Amino acid sequence: MPKTFSGNILVLTAPSGAGKTTLSRMLVQRYPQCQLSISHTTREARPGEVNGRDYFFVELDEFLSMIQEGKFLEYATVHGNYYGTSFQYLYQAMEQGMNVLLDIDYQGAFQLKKKMPEAILVFILPPSLEDLRERLTSRGRDDDEVVKLRLQNAEEEILQYSHFDYVVVNEDLEQAYEQLASILTAEELRKNRRRPLSELADIHIEIAPEGQ
Ligand code: 5GP
Repeated sequence: MPKTFSGNILVLTAPSGAGKTTLSRMLVQRYPQCQLSISHTTREARPGEVNGRDYFFVELDEFLSMIQEGKFLEYATVHGNYYGTSFQYLYQAMEQGMNVLLDIDYQGAFQLKKKMPEAILVFILPPSLEDLRERLTSRGRDDDEVVKLRLQNAEEEILQYSHFDYVVVNEDLEQAYEQLASILTAEELRKNRRRPLSELADIHIEIAPEGQ
């Protein structure tokens, strides 16, 4: 397996309500060569969600067969549903030199890092648990039971932050975006170290033979 690509794999993990989806969209719209990975899930589509754009919505049987066939780079159960990233989707995007963003949970992030150590793991923290509760209830998307479950899971998820490469606190959306963009830029510059000098600048230095 291990392949190397020119684009970055940026994994964004956060408890629901921390602003991860908004930040991913901002990156896709504003940062050059950025594409969001589309996961498979067994969860029901929410009103307004489109199959193939937000997720590939599949039945449990199909998801389980895909696991058996080894089609997932990572997968996990989150809030009682299966979610997974397929090899095919990620490789296609990366072969085109894209930076690929993955909006996945911490279990998936750790599986991915094992298979692709070059993946950049970023944890997005809400400024406080109170703030998270507020955001989850005010968006009015999920019923009370779901909000309660998501808040319970949030505490467990937040404890994983220290295993990530970077941590961004989303108190101010613009500032959090700038920090994410800086991470991507820094990682691109790090990758440049492995490229030949002549590709980076108009510099052609002759290497002197040994002993001179
Ligand atoms: P939602 O149902 O709100 O769209 O997503 C619930 C959670 O599942 C989010 O934390 C999201 O990051 C996570 N998730 C979405 N896609 C994937 C995936 O492909 N793999 C894993 N491990 N988690 C995912």
